[in-house]
Amino acid sequence: MDTTNKNCIVRISRYKNALKRLKGLGFVKVFSSNLADATGTTSAQVRKDFSLFGIAGNKRGGYNVDNLIDQMNRIFGKYDVHKVVLVGIGNIGRALLSHKAFQRESIRIVAAFDIDPNKLDENARIPILPLDRLESYIIENEVKLGIITVPALAAQQVFTIMKDAGIKGVLNFAPLNLQTKDNVIVNNINLEMELENLVYYIMAEEKKII
Ligand code: ATP
Repeated sequence: MDTTNKNCIVRISRYKNALKRLKGLGFVKVFSSNLADATGTTSAQVRKDFSLFGIAGNKRGGYNVDNLIDQMNRIFGKYDVHKVVLVGIGNIGRALLSHKAFQRESIRIVAAFDIDPNKLDENARIPILPLDRLESYIIENEVKLGIITVPALAAQQVFTIMKDAGIKGVLNFAPLNLQTKDNVIVNNINLEMELENLVYYIMAEEKKII
């Protein structure tokens, strides 16, 4: 996916959140300007994004909120169940395992894996299995998504296993940027870096240097 499409999909996700809020406030119809205001972009950009993703609507009479949410849910595959494996049952891994939104959003962590025998629990709601079963589990269950929450040093090894077994999308929380030339999309989330970034902007704002 190129950067334009990636930015566009991020905006679609924001529009969807804004739509849910507007629906909660009682809106039945919205205009592109409502969504633009709610997400900090322009009406022209909203309409451009909609046309890129084939979202239809009546520009003049406004868009029906339920219908827009429905079309966006389809874009995000909300009506299918997406199986995810998670590797690394540290603090972040555990937090993600108990994250309720994943069930609501039809993204389902179906199994977790760890190298530490003390963390394994085959009978848990989401079974925690040994790392050496990761590859066969992905293949047998046709899992396409993976989450990596192991320390930086172990991340590349885990990523290689996932990739070779057929995983197509990885959310990586290990603090290193996983590189891939293969047909796998990697979203790297470095929490420390994200916070550092915010600290910079807050400091800059206080000193009025940006
Ligand atoms: P965090 O807060 O980042 O989740 P933590 O301090 O709780 O981390 P880490 O040391 O980051 O724990 O380890 C996370 C988990 O990853 C641990 O449960 C550890 O056993 C597991 N782990 C480490 N190496 C591997 C590996 N190669 N394969 C699978 N799991 C691993």
